[in-house]
Amino acid sequence: MTVTREAVEQWIRAYADAIAEHEQALTQLDMAIGDGDHGANMQRGFQAVLSRMSSVAEGDVGALFRMVGMTLLSTVGGTSGPLYGTLFLQMALQTQGKRELKPEELEAALRAGLDGIIARGKASPGDKTMIDALKPAHDALRQALHQKASLGEALRRAEEAARAGRDATIALVARKGRASYLGERSAGHQDPGATSAHLLMECAARTWM
Ligand code: ADP
Ligand code: MG
Repeated sequence: MTVTREAVEQWIRAYADAIAEHEQALTQLDMAIGDGDHGANMQRGFQAVLSRMSSVAEGDVGALFRMVGMTLLSTVGGTSGPLYGTLFLQMALQTQGKRELKPEELEAALRAGLDGIIARGKASPGDKTMIDALKPAHDALRQALHQKASLGEALRRAEEAARAGRDATIALVARKGRASYLGERSAGHQDPGATSAHLLMECAARTWM
């Protein structure tokens, strides 16, 4: 089982659709503990990604991830643009020149992307950010592949872990990003970035069922 470029493109397209579908919900979450632009930020970025999709040369997974990362960096303001941009640019570095990926290569790319977000945003698990969905998802993916699960099964477990991590942000007090300005008042609200990060894993699981 390998991950083809077509499948990666399907994943990105599915995510763009999911963002469009959840734009209002992401905005509502960000209105409660931020400035209410997370839905619009993500929507702007992924609509730009969609419009550039056909300009990416056939064949190379890395080129596709690179286009996504560059597009997010150049079109999305706010904190989440540079962070998601970094995720995809790091995934691009890991996959450049590859026409398809082994499941372990996808896992390694995701790990590099996660490390990139942590290096840039300096958030730790429990700070009530997208890391709280992405890190458990990557851990679950790696463990499942290590146990010889199929890619589809491994991504299902990653999605479940991302969902649990997202839900756990409700109780947390934010220590990074705008929500941290609220201090204790940030508790009781689900983190917008962890919510969009879970959607990314949900789309991956759906694409590689
Ligand atoms: P902004 O906060 O600049 O308005 P967005 O609303 O688009 O940007 O994104 C907010 C989300 O970004 C938060 O919900 C959180 O998940 C994520 N975030 C904020 N700061 C960090 C950080 N330092 N590291 C990781 N994620 C972060
Ligand atoms: Mg915001």
